[in-house]
Amino acid sequence: MNKLIKNSINVGKENGMWKGDDVSMDGLHKWIHRRLPKPDLCQNCKKKPPIDLANKGIYNRELKNWWWLCRSCHMELDGRLKRLHKNKKTGWMQKCKYCDNEYWMIPSIWKKGRGRMCSDVCKVKDRKRNKDGRVI
Ligand SMILES: [Zn+2]
Ligand SMILES: [Zn+2]
Repeated sequence: MNKLIKNSINVGKENGMWKGDDVSMDGLHKWIHRRLPKPDLCQNCKKKPPIDLANKGIYNRELKNWWWLCRSCHMELDGRLKRLHKNKKTGWMQKCKYCDNEYWMIPSIWKKGRGRMCSDVCKVKDRKRNKDGRVI
């Protein structure tokens, strides 16, 4: 009798398979989950129904960096992504605080307190903006 209601409740349920070691990462995942509707077919192979909401390598709130994948596509692409990150040692994609461009960041630069901007040009502009408008 209540089949329809039961099915619709299931939508927001947490994905128990997700093994994120970062709490904020998990929160982001849920945030995207709420905003990105699940399509009928996997967005990669377009053959099977999607199961996982996957990230394309940039963890931010841009819906374009996320897609719905079937289990096999997710496994395959996830593996490729991990290998890619491994090859580059460590690092991550992030957005420039000033111009919103995405660029690759590595920890050694980050630790020096640099690297929040994609280039020296943005750094100078941002510093100037902070001085003028006191936007911090
Ligand atoms: Zn697929
Ligand atoms: Zn920039």
